[in-house]
Amino acid sequence: MKIVRCALCMFALLWSSIAVAGEAIESVRVWPAPDKTRIVFDLASAPEHSYFTLYDSRPYRLVIDFRGTRNQVNLDALDFDSLMVDRIRSSSPPQASTTRIVLELSDKVEPTVFPLPPNERYGHRLVVDIPGQSVTQQRVTRSAEGLTERPVIVAIDAGHGGEDPGSIGPAGTYEKNITLPVAQRLADLINADPAMKAVLVRTGDYGVHINQRNRVARRERADMFISIHADAFTSPQPRGASVWVLSRRRANTELGRWLENREQHSELLGGAGEVLSNNGDDPYLARTLLDMSLDSSMSGGFDAANLLLSRLSTVTRVHRREPQAASFAVLNSPDIPSVLVELGFISNPQEEQNLRSAAHQQRLAQALYDGTREFFIKHPIDGTVLANQRIRQHRVQSGDSLSVLAERYGTSVRAIQQHNSLSNTVLRVGQMLEIPSS
Ligand SMILES: [Zn+2]
Repeated sequence: MKIVRCALCMFALLWSSIAVAGEAIESVRVWPAPDKTRIVFDLASAPEHSYFTLYDSRPYRLVIDFRGTRNQVNLDALDFDSLMVDRIRSSSPPQASTTRIVLELSDKVEPTVFPLPPNERYGHRLVVDIPGQSVTQQRVTRSAEGLTERPVIVAIDAGHGGEDPGSIGPAGTYEKNITLPVAQRLADLINADPAMKAVLVRTGDYGVHINQRNRVARRERADMFISIHADAFTSPQPRGASVWVLSRRRANTELGRWLENREQHSELLGGAGEVLSNNGDDPYLARTLLDMSLDSSMSGGFDAANLLLSRLSTVTRVHRREPQAASFAVLNSPDIPSVLVELGFISNPQEEQNLRSAAHQQRLAQALYDGTREFFIKHPIDGTVLANQRIRQHRVQSGDSLSVLAERYGTSVRAIQQHNSLSNTVLRVGQMLEIPSS
């Protein structure tokens, strides 16, 4: 009995020393984001690590020791661009069996270092968060209010990112790699329109916490929030785009949460926040104001969803003809008309191919742009350029050209082209045009 025990014990010792000798850093991923840089070390088993900072002289360094671990990663080949982390390299370790990794930092900050257990996608990981703005960020500059008409501001949220790939198509396409280029194409179309401004919730391949996505929209005082995703199902058949809006039940829950959190009152748009702070945060008044704000933003979201769907149906198959009421956490801004667009099913092999195509991405972005613009003309916001757009009908006569019409109606060739989705400047006699003008 005793012998058996001892043998087992020997075996266990042997096993653990084998495991330690076989431990390795298998890969390193770096995700620079607006609020931090996240570095993820992939390991074969739970890391035995320790770390310290060297902040007395430049370069500022975070030193991480992985005990009983070999490094299999060529750190010099890591390709990343972070304002916080200048370099990741190895250094001579205190013991031969230890791997020492040095992060050269641009600032003295308090890093967060924590291990993560395996999930369905990754094995053991050590996560290092270096706080601080790590990517250059665009901010919307509004012209001084009251002086001129302002552009409407559209917050565009490219779903997933960083460690979260979203759904994965049968050919291996990551949803996060579809949502970002479509969001960027949409932002480019919007920013080329003087009446509109886009703000991207994420501009690169990094994760953004679900609550943070809405905060970006609120901070920029967005007039609309569009979250972009691609659908997936367990079978390959389903296909087509769909558009989702905040469900009333979800909205009521969110409203309750908002009322509990007084700090959020001041973040409300539409002046409700100011009314509240002038009235001592009266909870009854808060509820009423938020309810009103919610009703208008929800009906706004529904109308926007309808317009986006009808535009999308001209460039892709549509999965559901009506906007769907959703309880997605990302649609939790009761004060901003918010929609979630599923561009198509990444789980459908044909649609996966389409979603990867730059031409198809551009068509989707154009449809979303057209629908968004139409929404702000049909639901004008006081003080915005689009609120004063009038749409006139014009039947093309011989001798008409886009520049002649632009001149006559006081608008631009580009505005007429965009409004009518014209891909070139050729007009034919008898053609009906809608002329947007101010
Ligand atoms: Zn998604």
